[in-house]
Amino acid sequence: MARDKKAVYYRLEIDTLLCTLCPICASRCEKGAISQKMDNSIIYLYFENKLCDGCKVCERLCPESALKVVSTHQMGVKSILLNSGDVAVCEECNQPFASLKHLERAYDKSKTLLSARRRLCPICRINRLLSSVEMP
Ligand code: SF4
Ligand code: SF4
Repeated sequence: MARDKKAVYYRLEIDTLLCTLCPICASRCEKGAISQKMDNSIIYLYFENKLCDGCKVCERLCPESALKVVSTHQMGVKSILLNSGDVAVCEECNQPFASLKHLERAYDKSKTLLSARRRLCPICRINRLLSSVEMP
């Protein structure tokens, strides 16, 4: 159903210093208004306000409190770039797999993570764990 001229839309205010480009807001937005794209060196976070219904799930779930949902009367014509950052490349298979800032923030929060493992993609991490298990 089309919205009239006085309809309320929403925009996202983001603190790009706090945002780690983790996958949470994009993966939990049921309207597909937030999306993440990754190439070999950069990860991007986009927002499309004509898809957003203002539910604030993203704001509530953001682990860094980096997002704020704000109402507006303007409907955007295309998706806008919210944030971007470097990609972490797996030391084993050389595939880009996650936000580097997200991994570094996780490592800062949990000193129990072994630094040698933090640049491994999930598949290589499992393979390394399996290869270290002695078979009976
Ligand atoms: S959930 Fe928060 S920290 Fe993660 S990408 Fe979204 S805004 Fe950034
Ligand atoms: S407010 Fe709801 S619909 Fe809008 S971007 Fe956040 S999670 Fe998606």
